[in-house]
Amino acid sequence: MQITGFKDSSFSLRYLGVPITAGRLTKNECTKLVEKILAGVRIWATKSLSFAGRARLISSVIFGMYACWATIFILPNTGLDKITQICRNYLWSGSKDAKRKPHISWVTTCLSKSQGGLGIKDFGTRNKALIAKLVKWIHGKYLKSNSWWSYHPPKDCSWYKRKICFIKELFKEGSTSPPHWNWLGKPEYTVSIGYKWLMGDQRKVTWARIPWTRTVILRHGFIVWVLLQHRLPTKAKLSKYITDMDTLCPLCHQAIEEDSHLFYDCEYAKEIWGGHKPLVGLPGEYTGVYYIWRARNVALFKQTQWATPSVVKEIKEQIKTRILFLHSISARYSLYIDRLLSI
Ligand SMILES: [Zn+2]
Repeated sequence: MQITGFKDSSFSLRYLGVPITAGRLTKNECTKLVEKILAGVRIWATKSLSFAGRARLISSVIFGMYACWATIFILPNTGLDKITQICRNYLWSGSKDAKRKPHISWVTTCLSKSQGGLGIKDFGTRNKALIAKLVKWIHGKYLKSNSWWSYHPPKDCSWYKRKICFIKELFKEGSTSPPHWNWLGKPEYTVSIGYKWLMGDQRKVTWARIPWTRTVILRHGFIVWVLLQHRLPTKAKLSKYITDMDTLCPLCHQAIEEDSHLFYDCEYAKEIWGGHKPLVGLPGEYTGVYYIWRARNVALFKQTQWATPSVVKEIKEQIKTRILFLHSISARYSLYIDRLLSI
């Protein structure tokens, strides 16, 4: 063993960290993937990342780990639920544990950005769309012109074959011209088209581009995204679940704290918007929403009123930094420099 470099091991074998098994992927085997994702989350939990940063890590790193397995295996529901739970907790609490209730449901979070979601993929649905690619490959490789769409598996066949046929039946409805794999008017099946079809026909929202335009600072866009869905936990909303709650605005103590008051009618908000009026129309103007929400949290949880001149100063600094950054990557933003210099 020492000479060959082989290791004494037991089934299942692994290749690039993924188990090689001819049968059903067990709950225990899927635990390896869950542990790998958990290890990543534990490390990131020590860093102070914004919501937007955490969403990016889920969409890129965690999704990359998951995709290695989901392309090959039909993952068990327990494993998929666990991965979803870890990601949801990490997105909203910054750790593997649920420390706070999510502002937005996971179903909405998994919608595309044009539909008002965050664009994080639903793990179960994506797994089916990825496996459909394998189903298509089996069709082309082994059955060719034979009728795969009308094929029914024998009752005593393996679990995996039964599941493959289940996914085939599921996707048969989406093919516009069986026995060919034509999808939603496209000549070829792709995972993204299959996923889109499985997620259903969701309506696009009119405000979809506002939080995610290139000029918006991501962590500011995230708060705007939650606000546009009327899901920021203002006192008016929390009072529906908590009885005898003080609902007065923590910034002015003059009215009930609800979205329209906090961001527009509140005297504090008016001072903020008035203070950075010269910046309206410049990239990053939604920074005001982010800072009003921050000032509200400081007033509520630290009992400290953040002076409006220093908030306005910080907003201006943030917008200036953003414009200089945008100008450094594209000349199209140079027209904002003159306005910036005049502020
Ligand atoms: Zn107020």
